[in-house]
Amino acid sequence: STDRGTVEQFLRAVPDFPEPGIRFWDLTPVLADAEGLAATTRLLSEPVADAAVDVVVGIEARGFLLGAAVAQALGLGIVPVRKQGKLPAVAASRSYDLEYGSATLELPAGVLAAGTRALLVDDVLATGGTAAAASELVESCGAHVAALSVVLELPALSGRARLGDRPLHAVLER
Ligand code: IMP
Repeated sequence: STDRGTVEQFLRAVPDFPEPGIRFWDLTPVLADAEGLAATTRLLSEPVADAAVDVVVGIEARGFLLGAAVAQALGLGIVPVRKQGKLPAVAASRSYDLEYGSATLELPAGVLAAGTRALLVDDVLATGGTAAAASELVESCGAHVAALSVVLELPALSGRARLGDRPLHAVLER
């Protein structure tokens, strides 16, 4: 579609970040452009229009930018999943392994009721560890992952397999 072409036009590959040999996909130029942000928002939102979503969950930090836009497009609110130590009141936390070390994500207290159907939003699905941990946080509150929407999926890293049966929508693959 034209929207997908707009996203591809602005998407930037940065070599050797954050380490030598790693190629980092940078969405900054996409989001800085008015039509880029509008196209991205449509592409993240439209596949889930029929998924009966109640709330958006945005994953720190680029998931906050994208998630807020998606929430507005769908007429919903947004809940942040944050890195450890940022939230004043925490409902649940979940640690997961990184290539070197581990990371912990937290869900805020008192904002995600049992039975709520959440749409998780992030920029990139790589190994899937982040998305899986965020999904488990949502489910630990008795809420459901109605779907996950990402701009970019890196299929070589098999992140989709970490998500089990949860529906994943990726705008682009690289
Ligand atoms: P994963 O947990 O390995 O799937 O990594 C996904 C998380 O790392 C997401 O929150 C992304 O924002 C970030 N990430 C991994 N690779 C990239 C990339 O190439 N560009 C931008 N973000 C990335």
